[in-house]
Amino acid sequence: MRLQEDWNGGWLLATVDGFPGVDEGRLMPFAPRSAISNPSGKTRNPPKRSRTPSLGMPSLHVRGICAALAAQYGNPRHGNKSNPLDELAYIILSTRTRNETFRDTYLQVKRAFPRWHDLRPGDLSRLSQILIPAGLGNLKARQLLEIAERLRKDFGRATLSPLKDLSDADAEAYLTSLPGVGSKVAKCVLMYSMGRHVLPVDAHVHRLASRLGFRTKRRPDTSQELIENAVPPRLRYGFHVNAVAHGRTVCLPQRPRCGSCCVARWCQYNAGRLT
Ligand code: SF4
Repeated sequence: MRLQEDWNGGWLLATVDGFPGVDEGRLMPFAPRSAISNPSGKTRNPPKRSRTPSLGMPSLHVRGICAALAAQYGNPRHGNKSNPLDELAYIILSTRTRNETFRDTYLQVKRAFPRWHDLRPGDLSRLSQILIPAGLGNLKARQLLEIAERLRKDFGRATLSPLKDLSDADAEAYLTSLPGVGSKVAKCVLMYSMGRHVLPVDAHVHRLASRLGFRTKRRPDTSQELIENAVPPRLRYGFHVNAVAHGRTVCLPQRPRCGSCCVARWCQYNAGRLT
């Protein structure tokens, strides 16, 4: 008996030699592993495929997609910070700006204000000047000052360390209560700097998941829960960072490069089922 993985169907294909009731050499599609490992002849019907609730596709597909993306992009890190408040500031600076600009700007801010705790309302003008090259200098400076102020009020100092004792949901709820912090940014802080198994959904993740056939809604923010629940917790970090890399280089908004796509075999858009 020869076995061959069929990731498209998510099941083993078996070319059966001497399998009870099956002609020798005949291809037996969708043969479950149990039938192949226990060829007693009693298991004739394929078992129900394991489906992730709210996903709409076999969970084996999700694992195959995650493995293919990880092999292609290697679960990269992006210079993210281990200190959650550093990470939050880093993400705030990264919004609506180019990569290199915000990295330089972050370093300048840290040089000028080594401790977030020391950031005071009187520093607005100086902080805005530093942030101007990265864009939205005034807005981001006000946001950082307001966050520092709120943390001092809540915890006695500007820190997010107390969140380490909270559940994912409670830590996210606190983060989204901070000025200008939405669910995606909160999940990025939790995932990148606190090692939580959450999955931030941005435009790249949403586009890729939608095209692959995950159940999604029209916008990234309204699809957050659906996509996160579809990916096993320990695969969420890799899925996020690899999907972002894939969305930037292959699964482009216009004219995706399906011919060189490592997950094309699972893709509903590529199969012509989505437009
Ligand atoms: S096959 Fe095309 S549409 Fe599907 S994930 Fe790959 S690049 Fe995107």
